[in-house]
Amino acid sequence: MKVMKFGGTSVGKPERMLQVAELVTAGDEPVIVVLSALSGTTNALVTIGENIAKGDRTVAKQEIDKLQTHYQDFISKLVKKEPSIEKAKAIVAEHFEFLNIILKISFSEALSKDILAQGELLSTKLFSVYLEEQGIDHELLPALEFMSIDSYDEPQIGSIKIRLSQLLRKHKAKKLFVTQGYICRNARGEVDNLKRGGSDYTASLIAAAISASVCEIWTDIDGMHNNDPRIVKKTVPVEQLSFEEAAELAYFGAKILHPASIWPAQTYKVPVKLLNTMQPEAKGTTISEISESVGVKAVAAKDNITAIRIKSSRMLLAYGFLRKIFEVFEKYRTPIDMITTSEVAVSLTIDHTTHLKDILKELEPFGTIEVDKDQVIISVVGNEISQTKDIIKRLFGSIVNIPVRMVSYGGSPHNISLLVSAKNKTKILQQLNKGMFGLD
Ligand code: ADP
Ligand code: ASP
Ligand code: MG
Repeated sequence: MKVMKFGGTSVGKPERMLQVAELVTAGDEPVIVVLSALSGTTNALVTIGENIAKGDRTVAKQEIDKLQTHYQDFISKLVKKEPSIEKAKAIVAEHFEFLNIILKISFSEALSKDILAQGELLSTKLFSVYLEEQGIDHELLPALEFMSIDSYDEPQIGSIKIRLSQLLRKHKAKKLFVTQGYICRNARGEVDNLKRGGSDYTASLIAAAISASVCEIWTDIDGMHNNDPRIVKKTVPVEQLSFEEAAELAYFGAKILHPASIWPAQTYKVPVKLLNTMQPEAKGTTISEISESVGVKAVAAKDNITAIRIKSSRMLLAYGFLRKIFEVFEKYRTPIDMITTSEVAVSLTIDHTTHLKDILKELEPFGTIEVDKDQVIISVVGNEISQTKDIIKRLFGSIVNIPVRMVSYGGSPHNISLLVSAKNKTKILQQLNKGMFGLD
């Protein structure tokens, strides 16, 4: 059995949904199809939630109506025969009625998650109606019945596997399943989600839970590129990556993959393929256990980084100092991304700043604290790059005019990270494209 995940743009237009139907029925192998919400929907739902939260119900209502019109238009082009038209209209009516009811009740965090879940519920139900109209046998699997996170917001593959297997056993004869990406239940049993871009994570978790032959991530680009195509003009697809390389790129900002989407597939040794819905014949990127070549493969940038420097002469020749500092971050459940040390100072970076104030207060007794906001981590990723000849010369040679705040080298054989001011992000990505890949 394989997993095929389609992102927002892949299902964002009626004609694209038809193409998805062709792709998922092309082979003989049973498939679990994971769908995102239609492109733009989750952003619109976020805006609706935010407006309800701040009490601006008129704006929220306008947004709901605008989105509803979009869906009415969408289904009028998606389905053509009478029973399907009625079914699609009823689905749209049901979900927008739900949003309109929410508008009237008092807002809560749990309710905002309910709002966000409507996108994936709509896309999968509408796709199911389309498949039915085409006479394509399939089963809709409700993700809320098997996808879950624990009290630390972590998905547990073991329990997902038990519930998903039970569901699949009920429909043994079926070869095509459709389910929602992104949405799940939390430890309190409420509707929750796997964070923005989380449908990739859903696909990988399902692939791990069923030990799929492959986890295919279908999107709007022909695989992982060597640099961020939103920023740099000339980028090229990378044919092959190891799980480690892909995980580093996803974590350090390559938007094509959700940051956590590699570990489930990696743990269960399921190869991942990144493919282009608009160009299905393109090779894309294959991600597997081995790395087929040595050297630099790609660079990525992670935004919204805050750097903290703790300077203290008490650090000199002392032991236990770092542990005490790390404990502060642990207490506030704030992950540290980069760290560099000297004999009298330590610099580290975080991207979750919810508890920054408390963290800084608790760090105060350790020494002088300096904070730099608006930083980006630039990661150069590849296989055994730290052993690649002249790597440092090429890397720093191509960015001589850009001040670097931190460097992390040698922590992983696959990654060299630099911390620079956000205002230099475009410049550094462009210059690295030339210096590391010879692309102008
Ligand atoms: P989907 O809706 O299918 O999940 P996303 O928008 O989340 O698609 O991810 C695909 C987008 O990721 C591409 O359109 C591209 O702009 C962006 N992207 C950023 N970095 C990279 C990269 N290194 N390689 C490929 N795509 C990238
Ligand atoms: N629809 C969700 C989002 O826009 C999940 C996803 O697309 O992966 O973040
Ligand atoms: Mg995505």
